[in-house]
Amino acid sequence: MSVETVIEDLSAIVGEANCITEAERLEPYVTEIRGLFRGETAAVVRPGSTEEVAAVVGHCAANGIPMVPQGGNTGQCGGGVPKGGPRTIVISTDRLNRIRRLDEDEHVVVAEAGCILAEIQDAAAKADLLFPLSLASEGSCRIGGNLSTNAGGINVLRYGNARDLVLGLEVVMPDGRIWNGLRPLRKDNTGYALKHLFVGAEGTLGIITAAALKLFPAQHEIATAFVALDDPAAAIRLLRMARRSTDDSATAFELLPRIALDIGFKNLGQATDPFADPHPWYALVEIACHQADARMEAFLEEALENGLARDAVIARSGAQRQGLWRLREVGAGGHQFHEGALVKHDISMPIGAIPEMIERGAREAQKVVAGTRVIAFGHAGDGNLHFNLVQPVSHDAEAFRARTSEFNRVIHDLVHELGGSISAEHGIGMLKIAEMARYKQPLEIDLMRRIKDALDPEGLMNPGKLFASDNSPNGDAH
Ligand SMILES: Cc1cc2nc3c(=O)[nH]c(=O)nc-3n(C[C@H](O)[C@H](O)[C@H](O)COP(=O)(O)OP(=O)(O)OC[C@H]3O[C@@H](n4cnc5c(N)ncnc54)[C@H](O)[C@@H]3O)c2cc1C
Repeated sequence: MSVETVIEDLSAIVGEANCITEAERLEPYVTEIRGLFRGETAAVVRPGSTEEVAAVVGHCAANGIPMVPQGGNTGQCGGGVPKGGPRTIVISTDRLNRIRRLDEDEHVVVAEAGCILAEIQDAAAKADLLFPLSLASEGSCRIGGNLSTNAGGINVLRYGNARDLVLGLEVVMPDGRIWNGLRPLRKDNTGYALKHLFVGAEGTLGIITAAALKLFPAQHEIATAFVALDDPAAAIRLLRMARRSTDDSATAFELLPRIALDIGFKNLGQATDPFADPHPWYALVEIACHQADARMEAFLEEALENGLARDAVIARSGAQRQGLWRLREVGAGGHQFHEGALVKHDISMPIGAIPEMIERGAREAQKVVAGTRVIAFGHAGDGNLHFNLVQPVSHDAEAFRARTSEFNRVIHDLVHELGGSISAEHGIGMLKIAEMARYKQPLEIDLMRRIKDALDPEGLMNPGKLFASDNSPNGDAH
């Protein structure tokens, strides 16, 4: 059957208004958020129910049409960009946006895959509960995408990443069958935990249509502090102290070097340095527990007394708390592009290895291009750093970008040596296919391939992602 005829049939399933074929309207679905990747699609279909997803997938499968599930398209590795050739259909989950049920006794919410993350957080908050997954893109990313990338963010230290928050899933398989695994059970040892196959699979094994997710009691007492430090080793000791002296109530622990703030202040302004003098490193620490302010004060007093912390401020109001989080935003990577070429690494490692990673990684980066500005920041509380390399001032941007593979090699080799991961929270997509193949054990790749072949023998579900294939570029170069 021609792709045109298939599209007509898909249009009949989802309704004409939900089948997009005009080139201009397809544009946002074929480009990745940072413009690193561009794909092509014959149409975008927007099913409004699990049954419609199943009918769309079944019809595509029967006609050998490649499919790409897409949520908010905020992923940064090109996972949602259609790369299966001109016949590929994008299946957008944006109309699967109902919260099916929220159970206050069970502490469970059942949400459809296209729910925006912030909407799930809001629904929980209305019931005086907390859905703790939190990322800067939470206003536009969708829970199906969060699960498919096993998203992390700022609260992993206390609540875990997306995988840890899943109780059950509903998935449309690559042949169109619906697996109803939405059981919200906390204990279920009946064989393989199939739900975990789909979490982090980046849409290569099926389309998640709904999820049963864990909720927690809302946090009523939160204390937030910004702490000035000498070096990353002091940050690691401070983290240990924060966890021990607050009965493990730390919810966030973010690390920032001074250079991140300097570049942020220069390009964004709109934030105030809480200290009179600059310090080499900072940690943003948040705890949530009974008497949070008093416990934060006591813990920081001790840290200041024993010389671990150089200075500290505690937020005394909601506005001040926002101001401290604003510093974290200012220090994050989005605007570092204003400084010229930027090579990013989303890495994780055992927490104790963070100081060595930062010190040796900076040295290795200097060997590739002298004067490279190293901005290693991020969710240090869970071992995740965004190891960004910004071109030296007055360097040629293209010449710096041309060294990307060399930077990747030295940074990823070091991460591997230190027992870390070359993709902490953003996934593989197309960006890191070759890198993953280099560092993962051949047996692991072989097992992944076998699972893919077993569930999607025709290779129609999100082709060109995770695995090297004819359709995928060498995912090394950005
Ligand atoms: C400013 C900014 C900050 C960010 N911060 C963080 C952060 O702190 N932590 C973090 O982890 N990530 C972060 N991200 C990355 C991104 O937001 C996450 O990867 C997010 O989880 C992706 O959700 P999405 O709905 O946009 O998915 P998409 O980009 O649409 O898709 C991502 C992948 O999942 C697949 N997919 C999507 N929906 C489904 C589904 N229903 N079933 C099966 N497969 C599906 C796609 O095919 C693709 O492979 C950030 C991004 C931005 C732009």
